[in-house]
Amino acid sequence: YESMTTEELDAAIAQLEADVERLRAKGLSLDMARGKPSPEQVDLSRPMLDALASTSDLTDGGVDAANYGCPDGLPSARALMADILDVDVANVVLGGSSSLNIMSDVVLHGWVKGVRGCEPQVLQAQRGPLKFLCPSPGYDRHFAVSANAGFENVPVAMGPDGPDMDEVRRLVEGDPAVKGIWCVPKYSNPTGITYSDETVRRMAALKPAAPDFRIFWDNAYVVHDLTDTPDELLEVFGAVAEAGNDDLVYEFASTSKVTFPGSGIAAVAASAADADDLRAWFGIERVCCDKITQLAHARWLPNAAAVRAHMAEQARVLRPRFELVERKLTEGLGELGCATWSHPKGGYFVSFDGPEGSAKAIVSLAAELGVKMTGAGATWPYGCDPRDTNIRIAPSYPTLDDLSAALDVFVACVRLVSARLARAKRA
Ligand code: PMP
Repeated sequence: YESMTTEELDAAIAQLEADVERLRAKGLSLDMARGKPSPEQVDLSRPMLDALASTSDLTDGGVDAANYGCPDGLPSARALMADILDVDVANVVLGGSSSLNIMSDVVLHGWVKGVRGCEPQVLQAQRGPLKFLCPSPGYDRHFAVSANAGFENVPVAMGPDGPDMDEVRRLVEGDPAVKGIWCVPKYSNPTGITYSDETVRRMAALKPAAPDFRIFWDNAYVVHDLTDTPDELLEVFGAVAEAGNDDLVYEFASTSKVTFPGSGIAAVAASAADADDLRAWFGIERVCCDKITQLAHARWLPNAAAVRAHMAEQARVLRPRFELVERKLTEGLGELGCATWSHPKGGYFVSFDGPEGSAKAIVSLAAELGVKMTGAGATWPYGCDPRDTNIRIAPSYPTLDDLSAALDVFVACVRLVSARLARAKRA
C-alpha cells in the first residue's frame, strides 16, 4: 500500500471496504481467542476414563489413592511428571489440576509468607514497588498473576532465542526489587520460540540481587510438538547446577493440554530446599489433592514415552490447523509485506505482527465481523503493546471450516486496516 499512488490506494480501500461489508453480511460467530484443545483432541483421552472402574485396585506404591495422605502426590504420578520434565522426582510436588493455580499460589507464598525465611514481599513492598519481569509478547494470565499479587510488571523484549538476556541480567543482578521473571521456555506463548541453550545457560547463571528472586519456568508446552523435528530445550536444573547456583528456579507443568484441560495433574519442581519451603506452604492449605485423577493418569500414561505417543496423535489433529493459518496468511498477506507471523514447531499459538498502530483496530474490526480474537495488547503487561502490532492467533479449537472462515475475515481486516493506515500517513 505504501508504494501505490494515492488514487490506487483510495481505489484499493474502497474495494477492501466492500469485501469487509460482504463478510459482515455473513453474520459469523467464530472464536480464535483462547488456546483450547479441540473436541477431537480431547476425545483422544477418553480411554483414560476407563483406566479405573469400581473394581480397580486403588493403591499405588503402597499408597491408598482413595483416602487422605501422600500430600506430594501419588508416587507413580510424581514419577510421570518428573519423567516428562526430566527432573529429580524427589523435588517434584503435585498440586491440584491447574499449573496456573500453583504459580499463583507460589507467587502469593513469596508475597505473604516470604521465600525461604526472607521478609514477606508484602512488607518489602511498603518501602517501594517490587517488580516482576514479563518477557513480551507473553502470556496474559502470567502477567495477571504477578499484578494481582501486587507486583509492578516490567516488560522485557522477546527475541528468537528467548528474552533479551542482557536486559534480564542488568535488571535481576542490579535491582533487589526484582523478585521474579515469567518464562515459557519451550514453544513460548505466544511467539512459539524455544529458548536457545545459551539463553537457558545465561538464565541459570544469574546472580540475583534479591535472595528471594526466582525464575518461574512454566514448561507448559514441554511435550507439545507439532513436527517430527521438535525443538530441544536444555534442562534447566542441570544448567543451574553447572553454573554453580542452587535455589533459582521453580518449574511448572500440567497435563491440561495432554488429557482434559482443568481435570488433570499439575506439578512444581524446585531445588530440594525450595521444594521443602513450598511443601510447608501447601501443607497449610490442603491435606492432599485429587489422587484418583493422578492414578487414572499414571495408569493410562505410565511414562513420558506414552505421553509422547499420545501427543503425536494430538499433533495429527493440530497440524492441519497450523498449516491452514500459514497458507491463509501467506496467500492473503504474503505479497503485501505489511505483516509478519511466527511458524511454530509446537505449542498452541501463532504470533502475528501487523503494521505499527494496527493491532487494536484489526481485532476490533474482526470482532465487528463476528470473529473473536485475543484482545490486542493482551500479550503485554497491562494490555499495553507499545507499538500496537501484536495479535495472538489461537487456531486449535475451531473446526477447519470455521478456522478457514475466521482467517478470511482476519486477513480482510488486516488488509483494510493496513491500507487505511498507509492512507492516513499521506493525509
Ligand atoms: N501456562 C501457559 C503458558 C499456558 O499457555 C496455559 C494455558 N493456556 C497455562 C499455563 C494454563 O495451564 P493450567 O491449565 O495447567 O493451569
